[in-house]
Amino acid sequence: MSDFVPPAAHLDRTSPGGAARPRGNPARDPRRESRSGGKARRLADGREIIYFDVDPAQVREAVDTRELPPQAPASELRRDPLTGEWVAIAAHRQSRTYKPPAELCPLCPSSPGRPTEIPESTYDVVVFENQFPSFAQGIPGDESTVDGMPMVPSAPATGRCEVVCFTSDHNSSFSALSAAQARAVVDVWADRTAALAETPGVEQVFCFENRGEEIGVTLHHPHGQIYGYPFVTPKTGKMLRVAEEYLNLHGRHVQGDVLAAERAAGRRVVVDSEHWTAYVPAAARWPVEVHVVPHRKVPDIAALTDAERDDFAVTYLDVLRRLDGLYDGPLPYIAAWHQAPVRVGRELSWLRMEIFSVRRSADKLKYLAGSESGMGVWINDVTPEQIADRLR
Ligand SMILES: [Zn+2]
Repeated sequence: MSDFVPPAAHLDRTSPGGAARPRGNPARDPRRESRSGGKARRLADGREIIYFDVDPAQVREAVDTRELPPQAPASELRRDPLTGEWVAIAAHRQSRTYKPPAELCPLCPSSPGRPTEIPESTYDVVVFENQFPSFAQGIPGDESTVDGMPMVPSAPATGRCEVVCFTSDHNSSFSALSAAQARAVVDVWADRTAALAETPGVEQVFCFENRGEEIGVTLHHPHGQIYGYPFVTPKTGKMLRVAEEYLNLHGRHVQGDVLAAERAAGRRVVVDSEHWTAYVPAAARWPVEVHVVPHRKVPDIAALTDAERDDFAVTYLDVLRRLDGLYDGPLPYIAAWHQAPVRVGRELSWLRMEIFSVRRSADKLKYLAGSESGMGVWINDVTPEQIADRLR
């Protein structure tokens, strides 16, 4: 029998409104300091902002001069009784900033007379709490049920949502960063992964980037996000079950075997470096899809060595530039880090970055229509080998 606790049951056990029962090491409060020397300050509404500077001597003392109402996140979790999956109901997000003109970008540094989310006039990489979080600390309410229906549990959506600005340059993109800048972002992801793992209620940390209006991006400034979920996500839960079955059957990790097989076949490999391989998976779902996988089994970004982080930065930039070379304009994409949950299944996890795009030709997008959205069955119009050929 599996000793992996399925996500829903796990959430039940550990209480999604877990703010009242903080876990982890109480001596380390991620809201005050960060592991790699980031400097934490507060915005006008109490949210935390953390500067990660190439020059550690850089002083960050600018004050947020805006008049902002205090943060009052109100997201609620409800569990779908038919699928056992949790849904976050975050009605307050409807009022969030939508495609502001460049001169009103809230992710640019502040300038005289124009305060933004970042009070300083410059920054290298900066992280701050999302103004419209789907998951947050201190959401009022208790574990309950929806309208007294015992099969539909509800709870405050305890967790944390952060924004990561990769560069202060509004018109840049991740693919335009230098290797040193990209490496700095890797360190920030590692820092935040470790910090959020010790944040009350967080069970899984998800670092990701949405890029392009086609993906629904509402701000053009190069940035990503980090979610600290109060449960193990359905996708991760399913992959952990598959990994466990494979391990019981073959005595090896399924991702390790896939990596070895893809490298041996070579047919879909896009970039192969000392510590990482980027390949189009044999059963790709998206018209553009690349997995970037470390050669060593590690549970999360925080566990990567310096050499692996350096190599990732170079490999990832190579992949992104190939993606941007596919069509005339920059490719819209989602870049998603698959990391081990905080408390369960860590031995069954193997870190992986997935990048995929909805663009299926120069002027056509793939929509998640009936089969994908209705049934979860993917139909890809492009073969994975064709995708790989175009990226090589
Ligand atoms: Zn900007």
